[in-house]
Amino acid sequence: MPPYQRPPLSKALWRGDKRLAEIDLDNATSGAQLYPGRRIVALDRAAHVVRDAQGDSYRYRHLLLAIGATPRRLPFEGGDRVIHFRTRRDYEALRRFAQPGAIIAVVGGGFIGAELAASLCGAGCKVCMLFPDAHIGAGLYLDGLASHLDGYYRAHGVELRSGVRVTGGRPTDGGVELSLSDGSLLGTEAVLAGLGVTPNTTLGEQAGLAVDNGIVVDAQLCSSDPDIWAAGGVANFYNPALDRRLRVEHEDAAIGMGRLAGRAMAGAAGRYDTLPFFYSDLFDLGYEAVGLLDTRLDVVEDWREPYREGVVYYLDHSRVRGVLLWNTWSQVDAARALIAEAGPFDAGSLFGRLPRGV
Ligand SMILES: Cc1cc2nc3c(=O)[nH]c(=O)nc-3n(C[C@H](O)[C@H](O)[C@H](O)COP(=O)(O)OP(=O)(O)OC[C@H]3O[C@@H](n4cnc5c(N)ncnc54)[C@H](O)[C@@H]3O)c2cc1C
Repeated sequence: MPPYQRPPLSKALWRGDKRLAEIDLDNATSGAQLYPGRRIVALDRAAHVVRDAQGDSYRYRHLLLAIGATPRRLPFEGGDRVIHFRTRRDYEALRRFAQPGAIIAVVGGGFIGAELAASLCGAGCKVCMLFPDAHIGAGLYLDGLASHLDGYYRAHGVELRSGVRVTGGRPTDGGVELSLSDGSLLGTEAVLAGLGVTPNTTLGEQAGLAVDNGIVVDAQLCSSDPDIWAAGGVANFYNPALDRRLRVEHEDAAIGMGRLAGRAMAGAAGRYDTLPFFYSDLFDLGYEAVGLLDTRLDVVEDWREPYREGVVYYLDHSRVRGVLLWNTWSQVDAARALIAEAGPFDAGSLFGRLPRGV
């Protein structure tokens, strides 16, 4: 098999059905000065300077920290066949191993693990998913939906090993051998870990910024230093609809906060009071969701077709705090509006409430 070659990155600009231009993203210029391959290791707030790992310094008037999060790691070094999936490079590494028939272990039953397992199945790999909880997506879905999802994965050929942790591992000739908490060993050709992330707060902490599960920002996404903003997966912001602070590791938050922070740094007024939505695709099942998906809340399920299409509401003290739109589309704004409503709500008032206008 020839080595995988990444195709050139490009983006087409369209107006209606007219193709206006093609941007070569590998060589694009926008007026911004880019310093690829540089990692900022120190922030001097008094001097308004950041310094990179090579010792070069950069002065700033306004600074945006959009440095995301770092994946949690398995407790062993297994070589290049153990991938803590996060970046394009991880994807390219995975492509080398994800050949039809390859045995791949996916560690973690959350968003990343579930999506990767489904994709690898589609690529013809033999996938074994390992996670410590009872089900895929534990804590997000009630038992009925969670059991259905487990069955769906098994029906697509995924081997599920629930209730186990990976305790160790070692590289073998052409693979990796995992040690599991139930005492067994598992031989694989590659291991993909999706164990969650921790926000990259060290830089902010060392510089004395307020940090609490992320860099704490105000409604304009400004940190405790008036010249430093934070956005995306590293930022901890207040959401008025839920009346609580959040740190959201999803695309909608990264895009919306990036846009608002950029405008705020340029002097435009604005408040980030959006409740970000998120989405996932699991084989041919898919969903969008808003707010808190937590099975410790009161849960009301309203299925048009059980576990194929419906809406799940998560309530706290009779207020809707989260909405799961399972194969139910174009309802994100309606779900946001419901979360902002004072209620009280119960099963009777929620049945049939969404989808709206379909
Ligand atoms: C495999 C995968 C699948 C996902 N799927 C979905 C999905 O289906 N739906 C969804 O809503 N979200 C999804 N997400 C989450 C989404 O990608 C993240 O929430 C989003 O990328 C966060 O954006 P960010 O800009 O805050 O951080 P990142 O995208 O992590 O970007 C941070 C950047 O900062 C750089 N950086 C870090 N530290 C430093 C430093 N000290 N100096 C200089 N640069 C630094 C990093 O190298 C990186 O380039 C997925 C994420 C992954 C990994």
